[in-house]
Amino acid sequence: MIFSPSPFEKHIFRGREIYIKRDDSLHVDFSGNKARKFHWFLNQEFLHVKRLISYGSNQSNAMYSLSVMARLRGWDFVYFCNHIPNFLKQNPVGNYKYALQNGMKIFESSNRQDDASAYNSKSDLVIQEGGRQVEAEFGIKILANELDKDIKVAGIKDPYLFLPSGTGTTALYLEKNLSFRVFTCSTVGDDEYLKDQFREIESDEIHFPTILSSEKKYHYGKLDLELYELWQELKRDMGITFDLMYDPVGWKKFLLHVDSIKGTPIYIHQGGVLGNESMKQRYKRKYETN
Ligand SMILES: *Cc1c(COP(=O)(O)O)cnc(C)c1O
Repeated sequence: MIFSPSPFEKHIFRGREIYIKRDDSLHVDFSGNKARKFHWFLNQEFLHVKRLISYGSNQSNAMYSLSVMARLRGWDFVYFCNHIPNFLKQNPVGNYKYALQNGMKIFESSNRQDDASAYNSKSDLVIQEGGRQVEAEFGIKILANELDKDIKVAGIKDPYLFLPSGTGTTALYLEKNLSFRVFTCSTVGDDEYLKDQFREIESDEIHFPTILSSEKKYHYGKLDLELYELWQELKRDMGITFDLMYDPVGWKKFLLHVDSIKGTPIYIHQGGVLGNESMKQRYKRKYETN
């Protein structure tokens, strides 16, 4: 599979010039960084594989993309998560719903990584949470090459990159494959947790992206009216729908620091908009907004 280069757009937000790399428009089923991270897998033949196994959260964007990959290839797809709320079981929505429609078999497990890794026959392909593994570099390198070209065409002299992290895989491999600065922030766990995630795939800290912090702690997937309002403002002022799990926290932390970073910012839109369905529903239930 080949993805066409994603658009590179110039925008103004809160009076400041910012470029947005639209990886959200790469592909309907392999949106954003999941397309990049799974690119290598999409291009392998895997003659012996009959079953795909992975683990992570019950609304993960990676889970959905993997369910499509399994369906396209006629593989079974087994997925482990910590917990599935009864409400979700009875009212499937978002990535969870679409992954089930693609044939996913999902199990609750208190030891999801070990349970997934226990599948080790020749016909099994195990993919780590969120695609956090060295194979991800293949597709992220392609993104880095696109960015180098985009920057040249736009004539940007002093670029720097910002993108919010989950496992940090995308930010880490961008840092490794680009010659300018890469900034990121944690959205799952704290900054130390993000560094531990970096260490899972890279031992040399010299390659770690710079983490932008905030005083306020944000909990993964937690509803927060301030974040929702920022998401709406981004949509209204730039006409771009961002993801609701990672991007509002990302923009919040980025805006806290933007005045102290020299250069022209580039923000990577990493997709995940399909997952907004469940988040929007939760916001609606809690705040009755539209
Ligand atoms: C998966 C995902 C992330 C996190 O990517 P990592 O490579 O795990 O850091 C960020 N944003 C969106 C929209 C995602 O789907």
